[in-house]
Amino acid sequence: MSDETTRPVLPLFTNLTRKGLLDWCDSHGVPSYRADQIRQWIFGKRVNDFSEMHDVPAAVRKQLSEEFDFWACRIVRHQVSSDRTEKLLLELREGDLVECVLMRETDRATVCISTQVGCGMGCIFCASGLDGVKRNLSTGEILEQVLRIDRLLGKEERITNVVVMGMGEPLANLRSLLPALDTLNEKGGMGLGARRITISTVGLPEKMRELARHGTPYNLAVSLHAPEDSLRTEIVPTNKRTGIAAILEASEEYFQITGRRVTYEYVLLAGRNDGPEQAKQLAILLRYHAAHVNLIPMNPVAPIDLTAPAEPRTKMFVEMLEHGGVNVTVRKRKGADIDAACGQLRLTELTLEK
Ligand code: SF4
Repeated sequence: MSDETTRPVLPLFTNLTRKGLLDWCDSHGVPSYRADQIRQWIFGKRVNDFSEMHDVPAAVRKQLSEEFDFWACRIVRHQVSSDRTEKLLLELREGDLVECVLMRETDRATVCISTQVGCGMGCIFCASGLDGVKRNLSTGEILEQVLRIDRLLGKEERITNVVVMGMGEPLANLRSLLPALDTLNEKGGMGLGARRITISTVGLPEKMRELARHGTPYNLAVSLHAPEDSLRTEIVPTNKRTGIAAILEASEEYFQITGRRVTYEYVLLAGRNDGPEQAKQLAILLRYHAAHVNLIPMNPVAPIDLTAPAEPRTKMFVEMLEHGGVNVTVRKRKGADIDAACGQLRLTELTLEK
């Protein structure tokens, strides 16, 4: 342990892409096939240190541990909810804190990851945006959330899905996010199909186009939350700069380029956006789009004075959308008793706990 405390901070190994690792091998006289062997230990065999990579020569393992840190964070807290949702609080090397969540269903194990420390978007129902954005996470810090959760699973259990819906606006950090997702997607990485990876955004049209052009058809979920601009700007302040029309246009392009139908997320806030008028407007807005609406009844967040509508009102909203020809589902609430549900990950609360 004394080594750990005196050891200088080194570059994070998981910031290296496959190409980066191949270059490293090349510059160190290590045969290129070792790159995939090393990655297999990390992404497939769940090791926690270079020293555990038994079929990699000792000299290479030593070199790796002298040049890189294997982990970027330490686990500060691990909570398990009554529905078997698990949440990890991770402390990064400069002391910043982020959270990631594991949600289980019969045939799925989904990890929800964060992309920033805090968030600059300021959605009124969300704890993560209460204190603004502090910084972007690096590729390795994003990947590490998945790897840490992976190591909590039983031998037979595997991560089946990843959703980028935790703290932060993912498209504001595409530069770090895309290499992380590509690593999860690659066969020599975690081998998760692109359709099992979903990115959620408030709707940044230029970034949505950039993502479409990236070439890997990840699922895209746009957080709409209102059917017209004045109400949406109240709920999602960044809408003032973009507007719904430009977002829908970019969504349409995303569908045309990737073949992936965009999902629209809609947090139901009692008395704000959950009335029959909004349901009708939303149905008209999306009727001619290849759209699916995911309704999320608001999860309680301590300092925020907003609540979910009563169940009959949610039902009415669903029926009106269906009647208007729009596909709709209501998201199941997961991990609410450990504040792991959507919109409940919060920076200040985390910071105060330090
Ligand atoms: S809902 Fe998403 S984009 Fe909005 S403040 Fe929260 S983390 Fe940021």
